[in-house]
Amino acid sequence: MTFNQDSLKNDRSQDWRVELRNIIKNKDRLKLQRVRMNEVDAEKRVQSYVEVNSGLTAEQAVNEAQRCLDCANPTCISGCPVEINIPAFIKNIERKDFLEAAKTLKLTSSLPAVCGRVCPQEKQCEANCFYTIKMKTEPVAIGFLERFAADYERESNQISVPATATANGIKVACIGSGPASLTCAGELAKLGYSVTVFEALHEIGGVLKYGIPEFRLPNKIVDVEIDVLKQMGVQFETNFIVGKTATINDLREEGYVAFFAGSGAGLPRFMEIPGENYIGILSSNEYLTRVNLMNAASPYTDTPVICGLNVAVIGGGNTAMDSVRTAKRLGAKRAMIVYRRSMDEMPARIEEIHHAQEEGIEFLTLTNPIEYFSDEKGCLKQMRVQKMGLGEPDASGRRRPVEIEGSEYLIDVDTVIVSVGVSPNPIIPNSLPNLKMTRWKTIEVNEETLQSSIPDIFAGGDIVRGGATVILAMGDGRKAAASMNNYIQNIKTK
Ligand code: FAD
Ligand code: SF4
Repeated sequence: MTFNQDSLKNDRSQDWRVELRNIIKNKDRLKLQRVRMNEVDAEKRVQSYVEVNSGLTAEQAVNEAQRCLDCANPTCISGCPVEINIPAFIKNIERKDFLEAAKTLKLTSSLPAVCGRVCPQEKQCEANCFYTIKMKTEPVAIGFLERFAADYERESNQISVPATATANGIKVACIGSGPASLTCAGELAKLGYSVTVFEALHEIGGVLKYGIPEFRLPNKIVDVEIDVLKQMGVQFETNFIVGKTATINDLREEGYVAFFAGSGAGLPRFMEIPGENYIGILSSNEYLTRVNLMNAASPYTDTPVICGLNVAVIGGGNTAMDSVRTAKRLGAKRAMIVYRRSMDEMPARIEEIHHAQEEGIEFLTLTNPIEYFSDEKGCLKQMRVQKMGLGEPDASGRRRPVEIEGSEYLIDVDTVIVSVGVSPNPIIPNSLPNLKMTRWKTIEVNEETLQSSIPDIFAGGDIVRGGATVILAMGDGRKAAASMNNYIQNIKTK
C-alpha cells in the first residue's frame, strides 16, 4: 500500500501535516486488510429466501473497526446524508461497546439495520473515507460495521429507544411510510410533536417492504426499526390514501398543522414497444409487490404470480437485480438481465450484480428488446432484441446506447419483467391543484428547506428526486423535519 503525499499537500481544505502525523501514528492499522462479508453459498441460497449476507462476527467487527484512523477531519461523515458520527460509532465497536455504537447510530439514523444492508456505501460514506481518497485502497467497511452494531442490539434484545422531548400536542402528518417519512416522523417525535404516518398500503415501510426482497432485507428487520418509532409515540394509519381516503384539507380541519409528503415514485414505466400488453409481461413494481406483500409466489394464493421458466428482466438497476434474482428463486431455468448499455454503465450496486452472477443470472448487455410475440392465446412466447453499441455520453454522463442495424434476433421467453424506471406517485399532486410540480412530475421544493409552494407542505425522497436511494430519502426526511419545526415555531410566534 502506498500513500500519496502530493494528494495530501494539494488538499487545501485541511491541514495535511495533521493527516501525515495521523498516518505515521497509525501505520500498524494501515496494514490491516478489509474484512469480507460472510455469505450463504449461492447454490443453497437460490433454493429459498434466506438472507444472502449473514453479517460479521464480533471478532471480525472489532478487527475491522481497528482499521479506522479516527481522522481529525473525518471526511466519511460528509458522505453520509444523515451525518452519522462514523468514527464515534466505529471506535465504540473497537472498544467492544456494541450497544453504545448502536446508540450513536440512532442519534441521526432511524433505520441503521436497513442502511447497513442496502445503502450504496461505496458511493456515499466509504467513497469519502480517508483510505479511498488518500490511500487509494479499500475503505473501512462502514456499512458492514453499521449493520453489525444494529444487529447486535436487536439480537441481544437490548434495543434502545431514542429520547423524546415532552409532548407539545402539536399534530403533524407524514404521508407515505417509506424511509423518507419514517425518518421525518422519528425526528419530529424526538422534538415532542404528535406524529401520524398515513400509508396507502396495508404494510408500513414503502419500498423497504414492497420492493426489496427478503433475501436482501428481511421484513422483520424493518419491523423492529418501525417498532422503535412506535415506542417513540409515532402513530401509523394503514390503508389510508391521502388525497382519496381524506384530503389534506380534511386533515388540516382535524388539527394537523404541517405535512411531509414522502409518497415515493411507485408508478412503473414501460417501453411502449409492440406486444408489451401480452400475458406474461409485467412491471417490476407489480411483480415484486405481489411476491413480497401478497404471497403471490404460493400456488395456493387467489392471485398467483406467473413463475416463468424463461424470464427476461429489462433494465440494469437494483430493481432489475431484485426481480431477476426473485425469478430465479421462483424456479426460472433461464433468468436473464437484458440491458441496453454495458456492465460498466449498470446502475445497480456492485454487490448485487456480483451476487446475481454467482446465482447463475445471465447478463445480455448491449441488448434492447424491440418487439414481443405471443401464442394464439395471447401468452408471451418470444421477444425480438437488437444489439447496441455505445456512443457519446448523454445527460446522465453514461455513454449513450446506439442501435446496430441488422443485429436483431429472437429469444424464447414466457415472462418479461420491465424494470426501466419509475415515475413519481401522482395521487398527492393530483389532489392539490396549486402544488407546483417540475417538468418531471416531481414536487418542486426549496432545496434548503424542502418546503413546497404550499407553505405547510414539505416533501422529500423519491417524490422530489424521482427514483433515488434509501439514504437520500432519509437525509431529506431529516432535513424536512428541521424545517417543519422552524415553520411551526414561526407560525406559533406570529
Ligand atoms: P417509498 O419507499 O417509495 O415509500 C413511499 C410510500 O408512500 C409507499 O409505501 C406508498 O404506498 C405511499 N404512498 C404513496 N402515495 C400515498 C398517498 N397518497 N397516501 C398515503 N401513502 C402514499 N435504494 C437503495 O439505497 N439501495 C437499494 O438497494 C435499493 N434497492 C431498491 C430495490 C427496489 C426493488 C426498488 C423499487 C427501489 C430500491 N431502492 C434502493 C430505492 C429506494 O428504495 C427508494 O429510493 C426509497 O425507498 C425512496 O423512499 P421514499 O420514502 O421516498 O418512498
Ligand atoms: Fe477516517 Fe475512514 Fe475512519 Fe472516517 S471511516 S474516520 S474517513 S478512516
